[in-house]
Amino acid sequence: MINLILFGPPGSGKGTQAAKLVEKYHLVHISTGDLFRFEMGNNTPLGQKAKSYMEKGQLVPDEVTVGMLKNKVDANPNAKGFIFDGFPRTIAQAEALDRLMAKKDSPISGLLALDVDDEEITQRILLRGKTSGRSDDNDERIIRNRIEVYKSETSPVFDYYAQSDKSQKINGFGTIEEIFARLCTAIDSL
Ligand code: AMP
Repeated sequence: MINLILFGPPGSGKGTQAAKLVEKYHLVHISTGDLFRFEMGNNTPLGQKAKSYMEKGQLVPDEVTVGMLKNKVDANPNAKGFIFDGFPRTIAQAEALDRLMAKKDSPISGLLALDVDDEEITQRILLRGKTSGRSDDNDERIIRNRIEVYKSETSPVFDYYAQSDKSQKINGFGTIEEIFARLCTAIDSL
């Protein structure tokens, strides 16, 4: 089993790389952002709960997010492993994930953090906003807020997994293929 956390600020390329990694390693991809957008699109109670937070670029509360994540993991009992994308985003989420995966005897193998600077990710998100239809990708103020939330609440998750030597930084500049090759090298040496 390989259980990966694909980490990095919004706009760092996690979704793009996750899709390529899934194809190569046949892991189950779980993106909490995609799951929330699906729920919102279907106007479910969960989607309605998430909407106001997402629109402001804030984090959806941990209990809501963790519950949704657990359901998705439990729905894939035969998975060869998982790629967690956009999760965990707080220390409490990381602790909940570790407990969940410990119960399944399938701990996190590593956290790979795409390293890209603020200016680059803001430009990438604004570009994506032209086609993604995401309101949180189209307003520079909300994008800045998402980056601030990443720095204050999410980046400590890197240090949390570094304590058990599981965190690695990956250069997030370059072509999609170049970044993919760096990720594969890191995964193959896990
Ligand atoms: P993303 O697609 O990963 O950029 O996520 C879009 C938005 O969904 C975030 O700005 C949050 O509002 C919400 N979200 C996604 N994943 C999480 C998470 N793990 N914890 C809390 N909120 C999340």
